[in-house]
Amino acid sequence: MIHKTQAIVLRCYPYSNTSRIVSWLTPEDGRIATLVKGSQRPKSLFLGQYDLFYTCELIYYARERAGIHIARECAPLKTRDRFRFDWKAAAAASYLSDLLFRVSPPDAPHHDLFDLLDSGLDQLASLGASVPFLFWFELKLLEALGLAPRLKHCLNCERELRSGARRATFSYARGGILCPACVEANPAGSLPIAPDILAILTGWQRARSSQAALSTQCTSWQLGEIEKLLGLFLSYHLDMALPSRGIALDVLKRKVA
Ligand SMILES: [Zn+2]
Repeated sequence: MIHKTQAIVLRCYPYSNTSRIVSWLTPEDGRIATLVKGSQRPKSLFLGQYDLFYTCELIYYARERAGIHIARECAPLKTRDRFRFDWKAAAAASYLSDLLFRVSPPDAPHHDLFDLLDSGLDQLASLGASVPFLFWFELKLLEALGLAPRLKHCLNCERELRSGARRATFSYARGGILCPACVEANPAGSLPIAPDILAILTGWQRARSSQAALSTQCTSWQLGEIEKLLGLFLSYHLDMALPSRGIALDVLKRKVA
């Protein structure tokens, strides 16, 4: 059966001297892989039509059993040229794409994940990358997956946490915050969370656009705390190591442009 869809390139790798396998994220069919036959031949119609981080219009022949479909035609809709010269933006785009590759269901629709990656890459391509943007993106991804950390109410007693609450605990294992009254002594899978860190995370989680994250002035200590807490939450709930996260954050923290 022939399918026509928008698709974002997540990964490309060689299949033979002249062909490639490309992984895509689509709104209707989730994560798919296609064989792009002869794409490396000098006269291939696919040359220049797709590359990492492009959003394309893709026409492919779906094979029900094999798992790898056959690309028939492809045309770029967004090429996001900034990733060719801005290595920090490219490192952030690599992390976003790797994250979506790992969490997207194969051959199943998930419009929210497609829209999140498409708009995230748009934003990186127009404004460049920043550490707060990556954290904001992680919070939005967790929300799209139904895994958002519960930050407003205590997981145990359901009481709303007052802003500035001291001695609250971030239980990444249980998925949110425990108020001071409910904190057990040294509970497994949890860490203390400072009031300012909780306020920053709550604000970013509430914000629809990344503007809130980009306009928050964070100290390097605050960014380090958020990196640690969100990193623990992601690896616990997604049940996977994310080496691309550490690489992207290392690149973004370097002083050289
Ligand atoms: Zn409580």
